[in-house]
Amino acid sequence: QVATESVAQRAYRLDREHVFHSWSAQDTLDPMVITQAEGSSVWDGDGRKYLDFSSQLVNTNIGHQHPRVIAAIQEQAARLCTIAPQYVNEARSEAARLIAERTPGDLNRVFFTNGGADANEHAVRMARLVTGRYKVLTTYRSYHGGTATAVNMTGDPRRWPSDLGTSGTLHFWGPFLYRSAFHAQSQEEECARALEHLEQVLTFEGPDTIAAVVLESIPGTAGVMVPPPGYMRGVRELCDRFGIMMIADEVMTGFGRTGAWFAIGEAGVVPDLLTFAKGVNSGYVPLGGVAINREIASYFGKRPYPGGLTYSGHPLATAAAVATINVMEDEGIVENARRLGEEIFGPRLRAIAERHPSVGEVRGTGAMWALELVRDPATREPLAPYGGTSPAMAELTVFLKAEGMLPFTNFNRIHVVPPCNISDTDAAEGLRLIDTALDIADRYVSA
Ligand code: PLP
Repeated sequence: QVATESVAQRAYRLDREHVFHSWSAQDTLDPMVITQAEGSSVWDGDGRKYLDFSSQLVNTNIGHQHPRVIAAIQEQAARLCTIAPQYVNEARSEAARLIAERTPGDLNRVFFTNGGADANEHAVRMARLVTGRYKVLTTYRSYHGGTATAVNMTGDPRRWPSDLGTSGTLHFWGPFLYRSAFHAQSQEEECARALEHLEQVLTFEGPDTIAAVVLESIPGTAGVMVPPPGYMRGVRELCDRFGIMMIADEVMTGFGRTGAWFAIGEAGVVPDLLTFAKGVNSGYVPLGGVAINREIASYFGKRPYPGGLTYSGHPLATAAAVATINVMEDEGIVENARRLGEEIFGPRLRAIAERHPSVGEVRGTGAMWALELVRDPATREPLAPYGGTSPAMAELTVFLKAEGMLPFTNFNRIHVVPPCNISDTDAAEGLRLIDTALDIADRYVSA
């Protein structure tokens, strides 16, 4: 239309004319054009390079454009782009094997979906059918996806506009010592009281009415609250006692993010169902799924499972998963995430927190960290209100982008969630930028 328009300018113009964006008031947006990406970097429409400290939506665990995964997708595309789910396809079979080998315990059968939300939808459907019960318990401060049941399972403000009160989802408090719902003073106390609270909720809701307890193994977008030791085991015991299915949402935590293949496995717990997406193939092609234990798989041995998707186990997506998992294995990416957490992110973020009064707490593991920013370290008043933003957080984000970083921010937090194979140099550079940006946050701290 405009003769002098660049490719990037045209893309931007058409986006503003025709694209409807997620979770947003459309007229307020000024989205960045990304034209290129490699490893832990992306380039905008003007050719400016940014360090991707967000892994997009915490999904590019192996970084952008890994050549082996690109080759696998190209090879699969040349051979068989698509096939209906009732047929066997080699990529799907192999992806299922590789996933089943890495999930804990007897989670040996995989139902593939297109992403994380529909994985949770199906996991809940399975739990409801197996138990004959309807209610589903999830935590406040959680995210489980944008579809009907998943958004109602979600424990953040994104649920509110879609909550008709008919989804059968109920919320309870998970452990979070820094903002304890239980006035606990130690992780041990937080753990014990959070479990006691869950037991009471189960008892007073009527255990016989509850199909599943669904937990992110480490709540991600809600703030990287690593559960205290023993909490997940306690939830497992409660579920066992009441015949309730335990569903671990590993959509964000799975496939290396926490320095393990699955965080729940590290906690020594085997859930009945485990959902995954994102890191399974770093998001190169949309893919998610449910890993199913023996009991539930056999429940659907003789009776049909009432659910399916045209693209369940799509060849391009599962070929990308096979290549991604093999790359992660061959390049030691899971171990690298663990090392990054132990040797770089943990110690350096704690040192950064020492220097900045605006940092109330540093939490995380592996390549998954959060800085909890506060206006007052004594009262722990957040730097932005729950569910909202603030001039301080906006200024911080603008600064980081101007300095050449894509940050992941949520309410009053900056998350440190780069690719699990980010170079030590890039990791250090990102932390240096965050350190500098926190001078802005400090200015908002009340004296
Ligand atoms: N569960 C968790 C823990 C997530 O972080 C997300 C996405 O951020 C989802 C589920 C939803 O996944 P998707 O956006 O692929 O539907």
